[in-house]
Amino acid sequence: MKPILETCADDCPPASVPDYTPLSELRNLQLKRLQAVVTRAWQHVEHFQSRLAERRLAPQDIRSLEDIAKLPFTVKNDLRDTYPFGLFASPMKDVVRLHASSGTTGKPIVVAYTKEDLDVWTSVIVRCFAGCGLHRGDIVQVAYGYGLFTGGLGAHYGAEALGAAVVPTSGGNADRQIMLMKDFGVTAMCCTPTYFLHLIDRAAELGVDLKELPLRAGIFGAEPWTESMRKHIEKMSGVEAFDIYGLSEIIGPGVGCECRRHRGLHIFEDHFLPEIVDPETGTPLPDGTEGELVLTTLSKHAMPMIRYRTRDITMLLPGQCECGRTLRRIDRIGRRSDDMLIVRGVNVFPSQVESALLEIEGTLPNYQILLTRVQGLDQMEVQVEVTPQMFNDKIGALQGLHAKLQGALDHVLGIRVRVALVEAHSLEPSQGKAKRVIDRRTQ
Ligand SMILES: [Zn+2]
Repeated sequence: MKPILETCADDCPPASVPDYTPLSELRNLQLKRLQAVVTRAWQHVEHFQSRLAERRLAPQDIRSLEDIAKLPFTVKNDLRDTYPFGLFASPMKDVVRLHASSGTTGKPIVVAYTKEDLDVWTSVIVRCFAGCGLHRGDIVQVAYGYGLFTGGLGAHYGAEALGAAVVPTSGGNADRQIMLMKDFGVTAMCCTPTYFLHLIDRAAELGVDLKELPLRAGIFGAEPWTESMRKHIEKMSGVEAFDIYGLSEIIGPGVGCECRRHRGLHIFEDHFLPEIVDPETGTPLPDGTEGELVLTTLSKHAMPMIRYRTRDITMLLPGQCECGRTLRRIDRIGRRSDDMLIVRGVNVFPSQVESALLEIEGTLPNYQILLTRVQGLDQMEVQVEVTPQMFNDKIGALQGLHAKLQGALDHVLGIRVRVALVEAHSLEPSQGKAKRVIDRRTQ
């Protein structure tokens, strides 16, 4: 691994300081901000006001951080039902930015920012990047999509505020991404992990060895990815791979990020209050217990989110990180509660398939799960891209690989699946978030 400065350089902005706030001070700040944000939402958002009224609650009932459990959850459908501006707590004259989800079905969800909200967003991204060892002088290529999606612009302004030089390539055009990475001496890459895998592949085909470049850090997010994928990325590219977490409903990327210890993602608790709840009952769970992550924005003006159900399954890690930050950490998110597929009555998560595939030599981790129903019975096919060399090799090698994959998947999933080996790049190009599952069972 190439060396990265362990601590922030002297010219690191003071924004990194809240990471080390003493716990009692941090909890006091959180309570003060929680009370303020609940009052703000109650005063300005009709939807929230009626939810509180149903429970005979008023903002004054929040006297401690634990009282948050009295408040109603907010779910994605609340954003859809109030489309487009129903959850705004600021008048449009104070809103300076709108983002929206791509919305594959029906209306998208819309999120809004005031100038103050954008400043908070930028400051948390600065803290993410500083935690990854980036500083002034770094050259950061942002290959997240720029536009309605929050990834590109979020990372962009954070990197600029850190003092790094930004190369705003946005997604797509792998050859140009690789050319700029090489010619500009890019030191850090921001994109989805699947897109970076695609770049690793393409670089190899172009004869570019990423390990020879100044590139030393990759900040990957916007989709769940596994520890095995991190190992693969680091081995193939020589970068130190960091997991960054966020969602548009809360602010965009920058809700949390790994530090260089890579033992969970620090949540910027001065702005986002995390809870873990039982996904079935909604009951709060203690640190160290897995459940659904629920987030409350503590400083959002334009669109406060109270107890937003993220559907991401994780836990709050007990104890403090060795890096000295007092901010609590969530475990890496491997799955979402709504990712779960039920195939012939068995629960299957795409991340299980991914881990199994990555253990096997000779496969590219690009894969797709195809679900169909034949005579009332679910059929699951896992299509896996394999390296061009495998196809050129003797037929025996492909058969051997097929058998190994079949064995690994049967073992991990506990159901019989069909494995199909396909040529590299024959699955949908992964330029943004990978589409891992095609479910044709209802058609
Ligand atoms: Zn840490």
